Amino acid sequence: MFRLNHTHDVNALSWVDSAHQHAHFGLQNLPFASFRVPQTDEEFRVGVAIGDEILDLERLCRAKLVNARTQAILNCASGPQLNALMAMGADAWHLLRQDIFEGLHQQNREWRAWQTCLVPQASAEYQLPSHVGDYTDFYASIHHARRVGALFRPDNPLLPNYQWVPIGYHGRASSLQISEHPVFRPYGQLNSSPDSVPVFSPCQRLDYELELAMYVGSGNLQGYPVTIDDAEAHLFGLGLMNDWSARDIQAWEYQPLGPFLSKSFATSLSPWLVSMEALAPYRCALQRETDSPPSLPYLHSEENQQSGGIDIQLEVRLLTPMMREQQQAPHIIGRSNFAHSFWTAAQMLTHHTSNGCNLCPGDVFASGTMSGPEAGQEGCLLELTQGGKVPLILANGEQRTFLQDGDEIIMSAHCRRDGFADIGFGEVRGIVCPAAEYGR
Ligand code: MN
Repeated sequence: MFRLNHTHDVNALSWVDSAHQHAHFGLQNLPFASFRVPQTDEEFRVGVAIGDEILDLERLCRAKLVNARTQAILNCASGPQLNALMAMGADAWHLLRQDIFEGLHQQNREWRAWQTCLVPQASAEYQLPSHVGDYTDFYASIHHARRVGALFRPDNPLLPNYQWVPIGYHGRASSLQISEHPVFRPYGQLNSSPDSVPVFSPCQRLDYELELAMYVGSGNLQGYPVTIDDAEAHLFGLGLMNDWSARDIQAWEYQPLGPFLSKSFATSLSPWLVSMEALAPYRCALQRETDSPPSLPYLHSEENQQSGGIDIQLEVRLLTPMMREQQQAPHIIGRSNFAHSFWTAAQMLTHHTSNGCNLCPGDVFASGTMSGPEAGQEGCLLELTQGGKVPLILANGEQRTFLQDGDEIIMSAHCRRDGFADIGFGEVRGIVCPAAEYGR
């Protein structure tokens, strides 16, 4: 696990003016993305956010402004996405962070040369930060599992395996998409009762899921599980994810093998990926109810117990077409925290490899809908509207049970801790488009 160091110093300032008091991207954050300037012949490449700017790592590599060791890392890590840097391992990530921090620090005398490597975020477009070979969706909020379980099994909401096995399913990497790409309402088989005949029609119960995406850094060889003590060293960082879900398709298809087409039509990811080292100040103890059973030994360590969690405040906002037309602000419909996770990122990674399964640089794990215990901390409409029975009333009087065409979901996240800088994850956004536009 990364230790606190001078790159977390709340008093450190950058020569980039917009980084001062920036809501997301101060000097202590330094998240990664893959970007380019559209309508040019530029290729996508890796950049680091600082204030309203992007430090272009390809230009930095060509400018030769860093020491030989870090130059070697930049030479190898250059490319359209982060996979090569991820594969280099935690020592390389740490050295690169240190040198980028020094270069952007206000005491850097060569700041004018570094300034030539900046590109304004306002002029950039993004693709996924890594090439994602495999994507796994976990189910790590016990509060989500209980509320959803209660809708389907009022007498037995939480299945007996939940507090022993980190539950997950293998998702579809090909339909992961970057923020702001449209989300087409999927067609599928719907059947409200097992005694009737299903129909094939556009989904009527379209939902979002508030999740965090964990990016695998260095992988492991097939047949060689990662231990709980080594798991953090394999994690590169975290981003935001909206796992769009078709609840009516899901209800008809999920037995006996789990989610399939109800989940694989679109999953949106934020452009910015916050490194595990940037998250070091916001680590917290694993939060569980006192009557939870202890994890099996392969999922237990003292360090994971004391600081395996991460205090990340999450927020979901909804912008309807009417609100957009009347220029109203998006309505906050859910607030939660990654600290509510029953399983830590290290436990999910350890369990995933425990059978010998190999992970690759750039693979993504999603946390599962990250709901909290209280009302207002629901991470999806299925929970918020109790399966569509209790409509959500918005500030302008509109109602929703599930998403309508034209609705936009905006998710954001922040870390705040006394004595440290506030850092943010930016946003993941997506607008629901009618199924008919999908070329049928
Ligand atoms: Mn999900």
